[in-house]
Amino acid sequence: MKVGIPKGLLYYKYHPFLITFFKELGADVVVSEDTNKKILDLGVKYAVDEACLPIKIFHGHAVALRDKCDIIVIPRIMQIKKNEYICPKFCGLPEMVTNSIENMPLSITEPIYTFTKKRLYRWAKSAGKKVTGNEFKIKHAFLKAYEGQLNYNAGILDENYDIKIALVGHPYNIYDNFVNMNLVNKLNKLGVGVETMEFTHELLISLEINNLYKRPFWTFARENYGFAVNASKEKRVDGIIYISSFNCGIDSVIIELIKDKVGSFPFLTLKVDEHTGEAGIDTRIEAFTDMLERRIVNESNIPTHG
Ligand code: SF4
Repeated sequence: MKVGIPKGLLYYKYHPFLITFFKELGADVVVSEDTNKKILDLGVKYAVDEACLPIKIFHGHAVALRDKCDIIVIPRIMQIKKNEYICPKFCGLPEMVTNSIENMPLSITEPIYTFTKKRLYRWAKSAGKKVTGNEFKIKHAFLKAYEGQLNYNAGILDENYDIKIALVGHPYNIYDNFVNMNLVNKLNKLGVGVETMEFTHELLISLEINNLYKRPFWTFARENYGFAVNASKEKRVDGIIYISSFNCGIDSVIIELIKDKVGSFPFLTLKVDEHTGEAGIDTRIEAFTDMLERRIVNESNIPTHG
């Protein structure tokens, strides 16, 4: 059986688990290609106009896989942390995709709760049955996949740059190089190193969150706020770049909360959608880098990071 996995949304966070699980079940795993112009155009064509860019891109990946697999994984991710939620678009993703794209293959859409091993195993039992009737095989595949995910080190932590920024945003904006137009590479070429939230301990994130009037309801909001505020406060970075999807309600709230907290600390928001031009991004990050350089030299505001 060929199992299709679209390279969109939280694929960037959970691909070791998904790929290992279905491979261990004996399936032939087909992952869509990296996001490109063709995938984007397909997404724009099939998704509803109001959808944000990452959702449109997921649609594009689903169309690209439509004729290449017997069954497709459309993850209905409900919760990745207890008592927190993620964007409602994740919960309704299977309905959005299957109602917008005709002739889709069978799909795996069981709700996913990743905050305990037991809850995730529930998903594995149900999803695995669509590939094999062998319960022992499903359990074995789950354990292998779980271990693979635990051993996966995501995140970017550049060393040896004179200037460093905290790169904040959803994983699908940070790690999809088509969406962000190779932002990390561009920054590195300008002499700017990058740090992402994976290297900030959960406890530090929680400490920053505790200072808020109200705890954010959304997991990504909590993580992005906690990381950005902590990195600026500890002066591990010289500035913050938030890469945000146009139309994302969660981003619009969290960007304002971060700005309010960090005050005059350098902060750049890069909004992306299907119309974003590369020249505009280049100009903005060059100007931001110039400003950081001037700030370090002229204002004696030298950070304490290595
Ligand atoms: S969190 Fe924002 S960017 Fe992500 S799927 Fe929801 S609306 Fe889109």
